[in-house]
Amino acid sequence: MTAPDQPAPFGGLSIDFSVDTSVAAPAAPPPLGGLSIAFAPDVATAPGGPGATAEPGDRTESKLVIVGSGPAGLTAAIYAARANLDPIVLAGSAPGGQLMLTSDVENYPGFPDGIQGPDLMTAFRAQAERFGTRIVDVDVDRVDLSGRPFRLWARGVEYRAQAVIVATGASAMWLGLESETRLRGHGVSACATCDGFFFRDREIAVVGGGDTAFEEATYLTRFAKKIHLLHRRDEFRASRIMVERARANPKIEIHTNTAIDDVLGDARVEALALRDTATGETRTMPIEGLFIAIGHQPNTEAFRDWLEVDAKGYLVVHDETNSRIDGVFIAGDVHDHRYRQAVTAAGDGCRAAIDAERWLEAQGITEANTLTAW
Ligand code: NDP
Repeated sequence: MTAPDQPAPFGGLSIDFSVDTSVAAPAAPPPLGGLSIAFAPDVATAPGGPGATAEPGDRTESKLVIVGSGPAGLTAAIYAARANLDPIVLAGSAPGGQLMLTSDVENYPGFPDGIQGPDLMTAFRAQAERFGTRIVDVDVDRVDLSGRPFRLWARGVEYRAQAVIVATGASAMWLGLESETRLRGHGVSACATCDGFFFRDREIAVVGGGDTAFEEATYLTRFAKKIHLLHRRDEFRASRIMVERARANPKIEIHTNTAIDDVLGDARVEALALRDTATGETRTMPIEGLFIAIGHQPNTEAFRDWLEVDAKGYLVVHDETNSRIDGVFIAGDVHDHRYRQAVTAAGDGCRAAIDAERWLEAQGITEANTLTAW
């Protein structure tokens, strides 16, 4: 799924607030209120190459570095920038968080007709940049939180901060089959918004029983001629309205008690080897695409050795947004496996930014009369 018309990375976006939507990639969802998206050159191929993420004069030191650029990280940036903290956001190489992989967002307040996930994150980013946030689309490789300034390394550049907000979110989980990995990009995907376009008039499957699976299946009806929703149990985690919407859609067929034992096909997905989890009976289902929608895991790699993690691997917060290290705050899905909503993550980012600002003031790092903007 590397067709030339696939959307470029979010990091290469520039935003044009005109009414001309003709430059949006064909697979891109309808823009927000006339907002169109122009794709600048990929940062990885820009002059200077992939290492050129800090030019002379670029800020690499700040009172506050925010790691992550989903709703939590960018909301924290909006608040921190308006409080004159000059934040740097280390946004990740796939910036924007999970909403970049989401189609219709119908429950984010303020959008009565819904909004596309990538459009929402484009607006978050523009708002953070408007107040002077520096956003760098790099993954943090390692950190040293043993003392201040805290040090973070990303693509060979060292960033220093007096306070850090960790808002690295969570990532899609995979089934763990060898064939699933081998055929990723050749019929196997975890992103209906990115890849649905390639399955026009095809018969495909979605695996999972939560809201993500039902949302993806419903979205994929725009393209595919038939979608099999495969779930290993006979009860769903998904909300009733999502299940009912899928049941009412003639293109979707729901198969309960159905596990995937293997993805079949050499160069491309051709079929699934399925097993009935109640009877053990096996069968083969010919399909041309498989979308994995079975949940998420928190992105804690760089921080695991420094911060506390719970049994599921999520970061542990103390006293609202604090971690066990003074000056290091936590926000969003990297600690929240209960709510996991864009709006709760955004709220969490706001709280972390307020806590960070108050903490910086208490340390005498910022003046008490900092222009607090909330
Ligand atoms: P969930 O954890 O809710 O669901 C994951 C599903 O995948 C479960 O049904 C689970 O099965 C199944 N699963 C997990 N591992 C495997 C495996 N190895 N093989 C087969 N099946 C597997 O994750 P979601 O991503 O669906 O949702 C996460 C959160 O985001 C939820 O709170 C959800 O409400 C929210 N959300 C909201 C949306 C909206 O409101 N528009 C859209 C998308 C998500 P089992 O049930 O047997 O454990």
